[in-house]
Amino acid sequence: MHAFDYVPAQSLDEVVEVLHQFGERAKPLAGGTDMVLFMERGRWRPDIVVELPHIPPFVGVELGDGHLRVGSRTTMRELETHPLVRAQAPLLATAAGEVGSVQIRNLATVGGNIGTASPAGDTLPALLALDASVRLRSKSGERIVPITEFFVGPGQTVMRPDEVITDVLVPVPSGRVGMAFYKLAVRRYMDIAIVDVAVLLTVNDDGAIIDARVALGAVAPTPIRVYDAEERLKGNELSETLAAEAAELAQQASRPISDQRGSAEYRRLMVQRLTRRLLWQAYQDAMSKAATGR
Ligand SMILES: Cc1cc2nc3c(=O)[nH]c(=O)nc-3n(C[C@H](O)[C@H](O)[C@H](O)COP(=O)(O)OP(=O)(O)OC[C@H]3O[C@@H](n4cnc5c(N)ncnc54)[C@H](O)[C@@H]3O)c2cc1C
Repeated sequence: MHAFDYVPAQSLDEVVEVLHQFGERAKPLAGGTDMVLFMERGRWRPDIVVELPHIPPFVGVELGDGHLRVGSRTTMRELETHPLVRAQAPLLATAAGEVGSVQIRNLATVGGNIGTASPAGDTLPALLALDASVRLRSKSGERIVPITEFFVGPGQTVMRPDEVITDVLVPVPSGRVGMAFYKLAVRRYMDIAIVDVAVLLTVNDDGAIIDARVALGAVAPTPIRVYDAEERLKGNELSETLAAEAAELAQQASRPISDQRGSAEYRRLMVQRLTRRLLWQAYQDAMSKAATGR
């Protein structure tokens, strides 16, 4: 590995100061599960590695103002097991539980998953379906970017080199909400997704879908939302025909590549099958919640 300076930052101010001073020459370090690998392979060659401190706002999961605030250093294992995440955003807990192995999940963070911006990052479709936002800090201040606008290509985001992700804001879904997530991979654990699908549906007391979110991973240059499918679903009860139509729209929205894990054709087919299956799962989950009585 190349030589670099290591800065164990003690505060948010120190992090943003280093990033401001060194720009593209510096890189934040969280769990290091991508960073160490990519530096060993020479893909990333930062001169300065600034380790993010284990203090707020980088750590902590809290509920307030209709949002779940998740510090960017929150590990996958914490997301998977945290009572608040499991209760308010089970989609995210499930997706986090699909990352690597327990050992990896004890290190890997949500900020790192977002920062790497892999099209196959497992928490990303869940965060998209949850309409999460990413809070960025730099010396010039703070900005909050909807995660739907965060990724611009494989490994590419709208984050500037002088910015750091402090936390992720997840609006807490309310009403009769159902969620479902599935990661299709060759192996059950320690594998990169062939397809990730995340679905969130809200139904009214009559069982009509009033909000729908469908997100896909590993089938396009970035994780994507399938807005056409969402619009098609809204206003209707789920039926075999509707689920098939929405799944078809998801398939049309995907632009997968062929690689050693699966051909583009296989991925498209799996998007269609899994979307249909997950729509039913999410719908049944939503319908199992007590009607609001309005
Ligand atoms: C064996 C193995 C198995 C894996 N399996 C999976 C898997 O199944 N699914 C999956 O999605 N991923 C998997 N990964 C990839 C990796 O674990 C995840 O992407 C993880 O979430 C990265 O988090 P980290 O904290 O380790 O990030 P780091 O490695 O510390 O950082 C990754 C990138 O994000 C940037 N970054 C980190 N934190 C911030 C921040 N707060 N603000 C701005 N930029 C930041 C870094 O600068 C770097 O560019 C695997 C990795 C390994 C080694």
